[in-house]
Amino acid sequence: MTTSQLTSTAVDAQATRSFTLWALRTIGLRVEPEGEHVFRFLAPEDRRESLNGAGTVRFTFVEPAGVGKPGAIEYVTPAARMFQWLLDQLKTSRQPTLAVPVADVTGVEQLAERLFAAYSLEGGAAVRLGGCDLEPRSLLRLSFRLGAVDDTRTPRLRHLNFLHDGTLLDDESVTQLRLDDLAPAGPELLADQRGLPERFDEWLDACQAAARESLRAEFPDRSAELLATCRVLCNHAAGTLLFDCGGQAIEVPFEGWALPLAHGQQLPPPLTCPATGRQSYHVAATCDGRVTVREALETCGESGKTGLPDQFETCEATGTRALREFLSTCPVSDGRVLTSRLVACPTCRQRVSPGAVSHGHCQACRALQPISKDDPRLAQIFGEYPKLDRWSHWKLSETSSAYVLSAAAWGRRLLVVLQKDSLEVRHLAAAGRWSAAWSEVPLSQRAELLR
Ligand SMILES: [Zn+2]
Repeated sequence: MTTSQLTSTAVDAQATRSFTLWALRTIGLRVEPEGEHVFRFLAPEDRRESLNGAGTVRFTFVEPAGVGKPGAIEYVTPAARMFQWLLDQLKTSRQPTLAVPVADVTGVEQLAERLFAAYSLEGGAAVRLGGCDLEPRSLLRLSFRLGAVDDTRTPRLRHLNFLHDGTLLDDESVTQLRLDDLAPAGPELLADQRGLPERFDEWLDACQAAARESLRAEFPDRSAELLATCRVLCNHAAGTLLFDCGGQAIEVPFEGWALPLAHGQQLPPPLTCPATGRQSYHVAATCDGRVTVREALETCGESGKTGLPDQFETCEATGTRALREFLSTCPVSDGRVLTSRLVACPTCRQRVSPGAVSHGHCQACRALQPISKDDPRLAQIFGEYPKLDRWSHWKLSETSSAYVLSAAAWGRRLLVVLQKDSLEVRHLAAAGRWSAAWSEVPLSQRAELLR
């Protein structure tokens, strides 16, 4: 036997098994397994005659050689006596019949855990179900017996399953939706009109035509006899997952057939980071309490904390990317620099970017320009510190936050650094006229020079 024959035999046995078990359940018989490959049902008394008087019928879908007691067990193929008996019984039942996959998801709680498992969570990020509805949707299963023209081969059985829009389901979807194991729908579903296509008869006709066309293409040398039409209700899920880390939640809507969602064969969508637009199943929280994806996170070169790019700046002195709180604005260059990298200018003592200092002076100290005593800035400063008016040879430079001033008189020089907005003294130093070294004026002596 070749591999393809073996596969074909397995497919045929599976199709026959699926049909037989469903049909027995549909005509109201209770099927019980008896060992691995054998099933049995108790024949109702009024139907025993057509079963040659048998009370309990044992049957299998595996060729008798593999079963053990071939005589007592009916080997079911589409050509078997029992199969024909079953078709006769079905003819008296309502068509199309309504069925559900035995394994279908029936409660939202069967979904939640698997949906959550699609994501990895870190940094305090959490996920919960925002809401989820299960709604039955209709599929149509058409079961055909494929006859052989020359009559020497066993007839074959094929099921074709269609979506409500007439699309033929592929094998993978049939497996995922467990359509090979159906049970008759309960009375509550029979009364439920949800999931019933609006133009039911048209749907039926279109699916039958499509099925016959598909079978003609696949089995050109066989005739196709429609044995049963079954509407199958499968639960479809639609809901929202909510991700948060204690604050506002991000919604991730999902939808799909409940069964593949519950078994991880279909994943809910990845989370989209609202700040960066990046998508991922790795959900993370930032240090400032926002939900994002791990791929969007940056690590702070100063603290090792993680955050989103909009929380980061680049240090102009080192090129390091760090959280904004670890950077300061250099008052002379206006550039952003890691606070830990600022250096004090040896002259004016302002903390500035290392690149702003050379030969003992910052850019502000090097840029001192002579200024007239009539300059309104000086006039304002003299108003605050009247004794400064006694000095002459004023020079001034400005940074974003300070005035740096120098003056000379009586063979001495004076350096004054004032906070621009408040005129508060930030540094006061004196030097001899010809000395390059400034000496800071102690706090106790400042008043003497200023007021
Ligand atoms: Zn300076």
